[in-house]
Amino acid sequence: MRFDVVSIFPEYLAPLELSLIGKARTEGLLELNVHDLRAYTADRHRTVDDTPYGGGAGMVMKPEPWAQSLGDIAEKSPATADGRKPVLIVPSPAGEVFTQALAYELAEEEHLVFACGRYEGIDERVLEWAGDQYTVRPISLGDYVLNGGEVAVLAMVEAIGRLIPGVVGNPESLVEESHSDGLLEYPVYTKPSVWRDREVPEVLLSGNHGKIAKFRKEHQLRRTAARRPDLIDALDVSTFSKAEKNT
Ligand code: SAM
Repeated sequence: MRFDVVSIFPEYLAPLELSLIGKARTEGLLELNVHDLRAYTADRHRTVDDTPYGGGAGMVMKPEPWAQSLGDIAEKSPATADGRKPVLIVPSPAGEVFTQALAYELAEEEHLVFACGRYEGIDERVLEWAGDQYTVRPISLGDYVLNGGEVAVLAMVEAIGRLIPGVVGNPESLVEESHSDGLLEYPVYTKPSVWRDREVPEVLLSGNHGKIAKFRKEHQLRRTAARRPDLIDALDVSTFSKAEKNT
């Protein structure tokens, strides 16, 4: 799987050289290229922004450097060679919200390209123009505003990248996670069994797998109801009851 990121702050993406994603890159499980948008400008000042038409505060990212960079990346896309379109992810607080389900969907793609906006965002015509070569998806990290798309890209690349087979050592750990079955994960504990007068729930020391599974499911439900009641409302009860019967 290949990721390309275009940004005016390529150094911002340096953490993607670390930890599991960094290791996956070294091992060739994923390819990640970071491009400096200013390298695609044609003027002496390497200008990437200008004042907004219609007035208002802030600056808007000019279309031409984006067209140059995205056009160049699309031409060399491995997805295009397969007769598919690469996916252009445009981080934006005005996009669809990024979720675990979306991370799974995007992990199936061959080539993801991320366009990191700054200032008031990218000239809207770039998104329309890019539709010829890309499947364009404006995506939000959540209902708040960041200064730029880079932090959103760090989060999305990590969430998607860890779903690529081989990136996380034990694939089992991807199954029993928050959001994998629509619920939050149960509380977890490690040694010592008594710490500062606080005991690990006894059932977890019992070795009884049935009871442990029941305890965990119950705590998943309790925690989700307390912290994220919206997730309980969204549960597909029929699927959930089937899974319950099988445990
Ligand atoms: N004027 C824009 C608006 O109100 O929708 C916000 C621009 S923001 C200051 C600059 C850039 O940060 C955006 O173009 C986007 O790339 C990124 N950004 C900000 N908040 C984000 C979020 N919640 N999710 C993803 N990207 C975000």
